[in-house]
Amino acid sequence: MNNDVLNENLHQFGLRFRPVVLMLNILFGIYFLVAQIWPLVLCYSIFAFRISRLIIVGRQNPMASKQAIDIVWLVVLIQSLPSVLILGPEAGFHLHVLGTIPMIFANERWGALAKLKRILIIAIYFVICELLLIHVEPLYTMSLNSIHALDSVNILFTLTMLSLMSYYLNLTIAESQRQLVKLANTDPLTGLLNRRSLSELADKETSRAHRSKNNLAIVICDIDYFKKLNDNYGHDFGDQVLKCVSQTMKDIRSYEYQCRWGGEEFVLVLPEASQQQAAQLAERLRIKIQSLQIPYEDQPVPVTMTFGVAQMQQDEDWHATLARADAALYEGKESGRNRVIQAE
Ligand code: GH3
Ligand code: MG
Ligand code: MG
Repeated sequence: MNNDVLNENLHQFGLRFRPVVLMLNILFGIYFLVAQIWPLVLCYSIFAFRISRLIIVGRQNPMASKQAIDIVWLVVLIQSLPSVLILGPEAGFHLHVLGTIPMIFANERWGALAKLKRILIIAIYFVICELLLIHVEPLYTMSLNSIHALDSVNILFTLTMLSLMSYYLNLTIAESQRQLVKLANTDPLTGLLNRRSLSELADKETSRAHRSKNNLAIVICDIDYFKKLNDNYGHDFGDQVLKCVSQTMKDIRSYEYQCRWGGEEFVLVLPEASQQQAAQLAERLRIKIQSLQIPYEDQPVPVTMTFGVAQMQQDEDWHATLARADAALYEGKESGRNRVIQAE
């Protein structure tokens, strides 16, 4: 799950980055066209064509697009080869591959060894360029000024790529963390808070309520005869009911919390609410749920819920309040269901 979120965000980052790379390739192509270095005009036209295709594929086939991100470091390395051989390493085209290093380290699918292997290949490529190819006569001779100008452009280009990649990767990691926290705190079926995150919030609200001597009330509610709904209409319909009921539960104030406590049980934590106010809210929700009439094969199926309500007393923690609300819920079930019962 963790890796999925990060990899998906990395892919989104790749999608946004490709048009920038395409534009830079076109600019290099135009430069070589003006300089009349035809083999490189051909190479950069091919690169630009390939990246354009990848941009289109990225939209239609995310799988292929994700795989392309895995080999971006190798593609950039291979693409820099013709320029290095034709103009010599002094023109600085081999530097481009440095710009892909953040992508290697950010890839969550690879272990440390796999990353190290790729860095090693880049290092060997650099050694070959800087120590061996430097002594080989380039296929095309340019003026020293042009070579220096190209080298400066390539250094700037690589620095810009490194900076942009580092910046976006940072954003990606921050966004992934935010999504993971959300995932860890919510129930996947209903989108409500889960038990663990509600417990944390209830701890905080309890301390706040005790400190400021404010009210706090808890409501626990449970769908009536839910097992029968599952048995009669199927588990998928049961899930549908849970989603509809949760949607209704969301109709509370922004500083109030609702969670799926488990199965078909929900808990509301209502800061600043008295028992009376909480019971009124529960009654409002009960009536709304009673009138839901969720359709099954075009036939409306009635759904009802029973509610237990309790207000937190002095020197009581929320667990004790919840236990009293739960006892009230039990009483509501015993006395016929579809009702709101207040704790003693
Ligand atoms: P009561 O009125 O006394 O609350 O009866 P009930 O049938 O609602 O209660 P019971 O505890 O007997 O049954 C709860 C059922 O909820 C059993 C379980 O299979 C079902 N359930 C729990 N979680 C889910 C879920 O995520 N989806 C679906 N469809 N059913 C679930
Ligand atoms: Mg039930
Ligand atoms: Mg139950």
